[in-house]
Amino acid sequence: MTDTTYTPEVEAPNVPLMPLGDLIPYAILTALLATMLFYFVGAEEGATSVFPGMTLHEWVHDARHLLGFPCH
Ligand SMILES: [Zn+2]
Repeated sequence: MTDTTYTPEVEAPNVPLMPLGDLIPYAILTALLATMLFYFVGAEEGATSVFPGMTLHEWVHDARHLLGFPCH
């Protein structure tokens, strides 16, 4: 048994940097999609309902309970 310690040379991957200003459209799109998702989970019911029926409510029902929105 040899007592040698092997430390491989590890180089960090060369990741191209993106200017922060180029991320603004992606941040806006993400915020818009998150807001829409938050609306459909939290407020798509009753008087504020955009789509008639309970189909969408049933699809996000567990998420409503998970986030603590009043439901039933
Ligand atoms: Zn419920």
